[in-house]
Amino acid sequence: QSSDPWRNFDRSKVYTADLESALHYLLRVELAAHASLEGDELRVFKDLVTLVAKLYPVGGSVVKLMETLSDWLLSLPLQQIPYQAILDLVDNKMRISGVFLGAEIRWVGCQGSRPGLRGYPCSLWTLFHVLTVRHDAMPTALENTGLDGEAAPVLQVMRRYIRTFFGCEECGRHFEQAAAASMDRVQNREQQILWLWNQHNMVNNRLAGSLSDDHLFPKAPWPSPSLCASCHEEENGIHVWNQDSILSFLRHHYGASNLSPQYAL
Ligand code: FAD
Repeated sequence: QSSDPWRNFDRSKVYTADLESALHYLLRVELAAHASLEGDELRVFKDLVTLVAKLYPVGGSVVKLMETLSDWLLSLPLQQIPYQAILDLVDNKMRISGVFLGAEIRWVGCQGSRPGLRGYPCSLWTLFHVLTVRHDAMPTALENTGLDGEAAPVLQVMRRYIRTFFGCEECGRHFEQAAAASMDRVQNREQQILWLWNQHNMVNNRLAGSLSDDHLFPKAPWPSPSLCASCHEEENGIHVWNQDSILSFLRHHYGASNLSPQYAL
């Protein structure tokens, strides 16, 4: 990442390069810490792959890869899958589509001012925000996947994924606490979008000024007034969020039409 040239980008856009890099990092780095997947781990991984295959908002090589992975995982009667078998499939599929290893991870909206900042965790938040908005736009996309019985399937899969695989264990513990406290109260797709937004802001609050803060991207309540003026209101001198504006802003910001293919693989 250190030798990467800085990529100019627009903070009011979401970049498919970040979403695709998230998935490559997840498959090649995060999952590689597990020599094989079985039991709960295998179930959680299958659910994540299904969720992305069904809800990823644009076409392209990564979504094809996720669809292939999903079909393959569902067709396997195995109780246990070696990580190497997953990696072989990913490598083969990528070779066919002409994308080569090493060229796959490219942060844009998630670039950090120096290596070790931003990148993967930023892209994972972005991916799940996009999936909550897509689920709202395509309510039937998860039919017959086994995930549609839950009130907040995107959050539930995210919760299980973070708990089981996310490399930052402290983050996993914090997220699990928050999920246990209030995720059950999410009853529909709109609340699913808003729960994740609110939870992300709680994390921003907690981390403001900490070591993981990139000075070019200080942790702050989001969206800023410059991104969404009508999201901010004042009641008796106290800042309040206008929830209707927030919801429409999130639907727009993380919606398919605001995705930029610039710098994509
Ligand atoms: P990020 O917080 O990663 O945000 C990425 C982008 O999302 C921002 O640039 C902005 O465009 C947008 N955004 C910001 N806020 C919101 C919002 N409220 N709603 C929607 N979009 C928003 N790090 C820790 O040190 N301790 C933790 O406990 C911790 N828990 C985490 C839990 C999860 C589930 C995840 C995915 C990450 C966690 N992290 C934690 C990492 C941390 O939240 C940041 O991802 C990391 O520090 C990189 O920060 P960033 O500046 O790229 O912005």
